[in-house]
Amino acid sequence: MTFSIHGIAVARGIAIGRAVVTGSGRADVVHYFIQPDQVEAEIERIRVGRNQVVDEIHRLQQTIAALGPKEAPHELSALLDVHLMLLQDEELIEGVKHWITDRLYNAEWALTTQLEVLSRQFDDMEDDYLRERKADLEQVAERILRYMKGISSPVTQPVAPRRKTQQDLLLDESVDVPLVLVAHDLSPADMLQFKQSVFAGFVTDVGGKTSHTAIVARSLDIPAVVGARSASQLVRQDDWVIIDGDTGVTIVDPSPIILAEYGFKQRQGELERSRLNRLRHTPAVTLDGQKIELVANIELPEDAAAALKAGAVGVGLFRSEFLFMGRGGDMPDEEEQFQAYKRAVEGMQGLPVTIRTLDVGADKPLDDARRDEAHVNPALGLRAIRWSLSEPEMFRTQIRAILRAAAFGKIRLLIPMIAHASEIRQTLSLIDFARAELDNRGVAYGPAEVGAMIEIPAAALSLRTFLKYFDFLSIGTNDLIQYTLAIDRSDESVAHLYDPCHPAVLRLVADTIAECRRQNKGVSVCGEMAGDIQFTRLLLGLGLRSFSMHPAQILAVKQEVLRADASRLETWAREVVDSEDPAQALGA
Ligand code: PEP
Ligand code: MG
Repeated sequence: MTFSIHGIAVARGIAIGRAVVTGSGRADVVHYFIQPDQVEAEIERIRVGRNQVVDEIHRLQQTIAALGPKEAPHELSALLDVHLMLLQDEELIEGVKHWITDRLYNAEWALTTQLEVLSRQFDDMEDDYLRERKADLEQVAERILRYMKGISSPVTQPVAPRRKTQQDLLLDESVDVPLVLVAHDLSPADMLQFKQSVFAGFVTDVGGKTSHTAIVARSLDIPAVVGARSASQLVRQDDWVIIDGDTGVTIVDPSPIILAEYGFKQRQGELERSRLNRLRHTPAVTLDGQKIELVANIELPEDAAAALKAGAVGVGLFRSEFLFMGRGGDMPDEEEQFQAYKRAVEGMQGLPVTIRTLDVGADKPLDDARRDEAHVNPALGLRAIRWSLSEPEMFRTQIRAILRAAAFGKIRLLIPMIAHASEIRQTLSLIDFARAELDNRGVAYGPAEVGAMIEIPAAALSLRTFLKYFDFLSIGTNDLIQYTLAIDRSDESVAHLYDPCHPAVLRLVADTIAECRRQNKGVSVCGEMAGDIQFTRLLLGLGLRSFSMHPAQILAVKQEVLRADASRLETWAREVVDSEDPAQALGA
């Protein structure tokens, strides 16, 4: 039966595919497709993993048998029997084989998918005792997964599925139908592995419009919806799902008429994209001749290719923390970081690259295991530059790596979430120290301007101090909104109050742009507002000439720029900022 779930639209477009539902915490399992000739080897990995768990249980049973009933109660051996039974369960084994053989899922993915299918069956059981066996099943699967980590996969190159058109979808259902991911939550690190994505779209139960998970989804340029509450409970493994990333609606089990309607919308979207593509080489100049800089936000050096392809004239924000994530807390050393920054610079073929120093904490833990260690109020805690200043060795290592890469192209350094004059002085002296270390080692490095992000209202209200020390400023509206309005950007329950149009937010943005212009210092916006065409004219009217956004948004913003007369927008923009209800004045 068709039903729809409403959430928050975060990445545009329509995705139609079969659901891959992952339980919470399961997204860390690697998802990739295998080649048909690798099926046997993947089944073998599962078999070996399972046999190792069986052996482990047998060993435990022997130990228990040697103990008396006092030390080893009867319940324990009964539990092990249940686990052995589950391991032998045909539905588990056959199901896993099905996902590997028919869908070409890698072994871990196949196992967790079948686990989800069986978990649902357990949930539906009337009998309490049987229902509770779900936890045993999860434990058994967890153990197999742990053993499988030690069994190397013969698969070297993950294979991306062929994106099918709506026509294909209606005609046949072979293994490479598009898949959409439905999850309770995904961390930014989980999202990273989707860069070589096998998924055509995704939906999560939690999250806000500018949570980092949403931001990475946008950079993947796949339709996405977050904050869809219980989507991961309501959608079943393998259901047909439509994700409408424009309206935030997820339609489950659509009828043929609905499928046809969305297939049409999907094709319209593709047409619009190819039309915009023609603007790729057109310079971004307004009707009144103002040159506008449209640059890219990237997460990994490899994203430089997409930035160039979209016609970006540089990188305005390289979120370097993504190099540090999903490594179990292990930090990349100076050499590894240097190579990564150099790849980004070379990838941009001589265009400037702004590298932001590590911004971890809040909704970007270094690794998921550390989430539990999160502080009571992580967004207000040890995050971004605060974290770096508390780990000066690590910070200097990053600065040295960036400065070394600056010998290979134009690099600018950007400092996140800075608010105090004392932090500014400390940061700049650590940068000087890092330079001196390179001098002492006789290592070559290049010049780099240093800029600050304006993300905290306190910073936006201390512009004179900031402009005394920094070469340029970049307004991080995602955090500026969060901290001005006291709204957690990743909490869907307050997402309706997360408002870029709030007069206080617009005032801070407007004043920052105006002060930088007065002092002839560079200023850009690199938060999501810069890539939202609702705000292009307003920001142009406020005097902004540099916009940094995901590559996927550049062409749409360029189209707005080409149609705008910046000087004529000035008075209107001031009126919007001064009005009681800017959203209404903006027509947003
Ligand atoms: C911002 O806060 O606007 C920003 C660009 O930084 P991030 O989204 O990575 O916090
Ligand atoms: Mg930020």
